[in-house]
Amino acid sequence: VSWAYVQVAVPVPLDGHFTYRLPQGAGVGRGFRVRVPFGPRKLIGVVTSGPHPAPPEGSPATIREVIEVLDDAPAVTEAPLALAEFVSDYYLAPPGECVGLLLPPRMTGEAAARGRELRPRVEEIAHPTPPGEDPGRLGARMAAALAWLDAHGPAALSELREAAGVSREVVRRLEAKGLLTIEAREIPRDPFHGRIEAPDAAPELMAEQRAAVTTLTASLGRFEGFLLRGVTGSGKTEVYLAIIEAALARGESALVLVPEIALTPQLAARFRARLGERVAVQHSGLDPSARHEQWLRIRRGELSVVVGARSAVFAPMQRLGVIVIDEEHEASFKQETSPRYHARDLALVRGRLESVPVILGSATPSCESWANAARGKLTLLSLTGRVQERPMPEVEVVDLRTTPCADPERLFSEPLVVALREVVDSGRQAILFLNRRGFASFLLCHACGETVECGACSVTYTWHQRRRRLVCHLCDQTRARPERCPSCGEPALHDMGSGTEQVEERLAQLLPEARVARMDRDTTRGRALERLLHAFRRHELDVLIGTQMVAKGHDFPNVTLVGVLLAELGLGFPDFRAAERTFQLLTQIAGRAGRADHPGRVLIQTYTPEHYAIRRAVGHDALAFLSTEVGLRDARGFPPATHLALFRATGQDRDRVARAAHALEGALLTAAAPWAEGVRVFPAQPAPIERINYRWRYQILVRGGQRSALHRVLAATRPLWSGGRLEAGVRVALDVDPHSFL
Ligand code: ADP
Ligand code: ZN
Repeated sequence: VSWAYVQVAVPVPLDGHFTYRLPQGAGVGRGFRVRVPFGPRKLIGVVTSGPHPAPPEGSPATIREVIEVLDDAPAVTEAPLALAEFVSDYYLAPPGECVGLLLPPRMTGEAAARGRELRPRVEEIAHPTPPGEDPGRLGARMAAALAWLDAHGPAALSELREAAGVSREVVRRLEAKGLLTIEAREIPRDPFHGRIEAPDAAPELMAEQRAAVTTLTASLGRFEGFLLRGVTGSGKTEVYLAIIEAALARGESALVLVPEIALTPQLAARFRARLGERVAVQHSGLDPSARHEQWLRIRRGELSVVVGARSAVFAPMQRLGVIVIDEEHEASFKQETSPRYHARDLALVRGRLESVPVILGSATPSCESWANAARGKLTLLSLTGRVQERPMPEVEVVDLRTTPCADPERLFSEPLVVALREVVDSGRQAILFLNRRGFASFLLCHACGETVECGACSVTYTWHQRRRRLVCHLCDQTRARPERCPSCGEPALHDMGSGTEQVEERLAQLLPEARVARMDRDTTRGRALERLLHAFRRHELDVLIGTQMVAKGHDFPNVTLVGVLLAELGLGFPDFRAAERTFQLLTQIAGRAGRADHPGRVLIQTYTPEHYAIRRAVGHDALAFLSTEVGLRDARGFPPATHLALFRATGQDRDRVARAAHALEGALLTAAAPWAEGVRVFPAQPAPIERINYRWRYQILVRGGQRSALHRVLAATRPLWSGGRLEAGVRVALDVDPHSFL
């Protein structure tokens, strides 16, 4: 028998693995990349099984041949490959797309081919060498170059030439005389390489931290899931660092998932300061070559700690020892395009696959993780106090129903203005939070009551005063502001609903002496975010106004006041997680105040102070919030009590979309029938946002008490929707464990 058949995951949005015949004498196995014909194209796929002596069952009659084997050893290792297969199965996503998560684009894209592999980038380093014999007289320029080199020690050739102002020829002559040697050294493409500002030593851990680290250390070498709960500033990051050092000491590596690298540069810097150049930070500032090179260095084990956003869960770690997920409740761990995986859940799967502990850290755990801790699936570890007994900030509620305001839009209550003035006068800083960008969230006609909507989406335009444009926040289309109402023609359009831009403008009137800046999607393009954070940290600004971006892990020691302008803004969302998100956001933003030795103060303005999410955030009481919330979810049949899947059908023809969605609903009902009450299919209906970018949107929610029953119903209908299309002109997508319901 010749073992001539392999199954390959090909990067196409189609279900199934594809069978290929191997050319004579080709040696491959699981994890190798192969170039294969696919229709008229040639694509690079990854072998998932084989070689087999015969085509696996279900293979077509004609089997095409692998064009080329691209690797001498598996490009992807077993654990990430198994993880990708889990993703394909659990999220019912195309295997090729899932396996595609494992490799940098340069290794599967068109450019990838043998011989066109990434070349290392080298740098020439000049070393001064003592002359063996009298070098004779040196020219002035040669002498200057030598003097500079003697003073500075070994340096990059480019640096030497620039500093001493000499040409390559001068350097070459010095080399010929034996006065310096030139060594080629490989340098990483990572622009952050070598930029460790100040190496940092671990502090002595406090009792609770020590207890947590002891428990975690005992779990190294086997799978166990932990939920590390502790308020911001309770020292969770020090616990992560300690367990990672313990894993590194065993010759193992560590994976750290964080919500958004760009918003947490300090965290990454802290890891590098403590653990050195072996830390790979997977930030978005890496170009494709740098990303590729970093992947190779992780794969070779040169980089043994990876700090990255959700996709890092697939990093090709050597000898993985521990996985950490910081801020495990964050929504950004969920990928909103196919495959729609959740990195926190996958981290637990990977931990099990590789027999390593997984640590989920948060000040405000998700209801899912909290329930898992209650069921004993996660071991709970708690840090109850703040480091060095720093007090929690004092949180006060400002009831907007009864408190006088300083402006007609009622953005600034009088107590908030007084507090802001005090802070600015005493040389401290403040953060103001409003989770809505733009100036006015919509234009309302006072004559006919109509609003001005985007022509492509079923939402109102947002007025951006600075740009003097109406902007659709869904499709980014803009238009000029009409003089008259497009519906009735009256000149009666008024700004309604304030955004961060208006807050900025109002504040400039109320506190003209304050230096104010705004941080939201409109002001943080490119490097602007870094500059803004830097300026605020250096106290070139007194007040930073922002959307939820300002709530994330920044540590600004001089901030003593945080103002939340309208706490209930997120509560109106048609999403069962609205209260949970509001609680988390308010708690997080409150944690920005008083981190250093100054006590902090938080003012929360709201029209609904009695709402439990707001009340519990004010009281710093995550446990009480979670217990209420998990109880409500139970009563209403939402996760974590149940499991959800959401189909979204979209298309330009509304009737077709509706018809196709109803047909799918029928098929799901048939598939669900044997499971009686166990799986419920909700009627197909228009999505809360009915139309985006000219496409009408329908959705079908499916709910299961048991995950396995839900999964079987979805799988039974898979042939109907797996190509991503229900009928001509109607696309469909499945989202398992959805986090967005708009
Ligand atoms: P968290 O991650 O829970 O927000 P951190 O680990 O960032 O908390 O700790 C908050 C601050 O306290 C940091 O500045 C950190 O360096 C410091 N810190 C943490 N643990 C200790 C300790 N045992 N001794 C002294 N300082 C500590
Ligand atoms: Zn639009």
